[in-house]
Amino acid sequence: MIYPIKTVPVFKQYIWGGNTLETKFGKNIPDGFAAESWEISCHSDGLCTVANGEHKGKTLREVVFSNPAQMLGKDNADEFPLLVKLLDAKDKLSVQVHPDNEFAAKHENGELGKTEMWYVVDAKPGAVLVYGLKEGANEKMLEEAINNGTLEELLNYVPVKKGDSFFIPAGTIHAICDGLLIAEIQQSSNTTYRVYDYNRIDKDGNKRPLHTQKAVQATKYDFSHSCSDAGKTEMIDGGTMKILAQCEYFSVIKYDVETEIEIQKPTSKFEMLVCTEGKAVIKYDDGEEIITGGDSFFIPAAMKNYRICGLAEILRSFE
Ligand code: ZN
Repeated sequence: MIYPIKTVPVFKQYIWGGNTLETKFGKNIPDGFAAESWEISCHSDGLCTVANGEHKGKTLREVVFSNPAQMLGKDNADEFPLLVKLLDAKDKLSVQVHPDNEFAAKHENGELGKTEMWYVVDAKPGAVLVYGLKEGANEKMLEEAINNGTLEELLNYVPVKKGDSFFIPAGTIHAICDGLLIAEIQQSSNTTYRVYDYNRIDKDGNKRPLHTQKAVQATKYDFSHSCSDAGKTEMIDGGTMKILAQCEYFSVIKYDVETEIEIQKPTSKFEMLVCTEGKAVIKYDDGEEIITGGDSFFIPAAMKNYRICGLAEILRSFE
């Protein structure tokens, strides 16, 4: 049976989290507090399970790898390449950088590197985030600034509003600041080098470790790319679409569904949907599934074209 697989997320309670995932999306977060919701994940640090249909209760990993041809469009696969998260930053996240595949393979036991993109689902007025270093910064300056506690002077802050998107190639120093609700599509990796954590302590009184040496080496001192390569909003039948990101690891398209849109889908690739606003119905050959704000679905490779009907904002991503 091939059908849109709704996932049960895994919550992470980091110190910077809040309760927006519950207040906005009605998610049942533990103790009313969560920083991250791993929406579509086969990563061993947070395995999603299936919420619907014949695979209900199994892990997504089990379902995907028991039939990689139908699920992933690959005859054999031992790796699920992508990860989708929702992040509720009540407080700011640590300043960090992720390695690329080459660096991670060498220094992190074959983990993947991490290129990611952010879609700003909501932002408080005046919200900012950290995107890269100020132009001209180099390895020596970064290392000194980390060691001297003056890193904030080197950071490139950019203003953020609802609807913005950011593309963060591996090697870009970045931080989500307070008052942001973000959908994140990324390579399936949990390798993060933290360079500054605002001297915070957790509930047990401990500071989180910094990874200065690896961070300085994994950072790319290249100022040629802009924060986002999102395209223009295009009219389509039943709504609008906008390409938010397109890179060698993933593509992300945002749809504003106003009535009914058709997704032309090759049967060689899986897709992932996350609804960031509203409510809609996914109509496919053998039935339909309801998707509302905060819901995520894994669409198996073998599923054919489908339609999304309703009034909703949906992010669709694929390899
Ligand atoms: Zn990151």
